[in-house]
Amino acid sequence: MLWEIYQQTKIHQARSQAESASRKSSEIRETVWRLEDRADRMALTTMAMFALMSERLGISEADLEAKIREIDLADGKLDGKVRVETNECPSCSRPVSKRHKKCMYCGSDINTGLKNL
Ligand SMILES: [Zn+2]
Repeated sequence: MLWEIYQQTKIHQARSQAESASRKSSEIRETVWRLEDRADRMALTTMAMFALMSERLGISEADLEAKIREIDLADGKLDGKVRVETNECPSCSRPVSKRHKKCMYCGSDINTGLKNL
């Protein structure tokens, strides 16, 4: 009898975990779809912007490649990525770009942690 109750409890726990994993999987799938949708939209917008710049301003693909390379190298690494170096806000601990002197979340001074609103 006790064994039966123990087994039922374990089955219930396993079922619960499986349902939770399934829900998480669905949420992640939806997030990926939304990100793919946004990436497609950004690619389309970028292509349209470059087509306009090319047609109206005469900017070539070589010009674009040179600018991409210049911006890519701004962080010292030619890796096809834009990296933003961050500091941690001394007040709220969120990441803040090293270019900013104030935290965009809480308004604190990055060097002192003091709020001077
Ligand atoms: Zn902050």
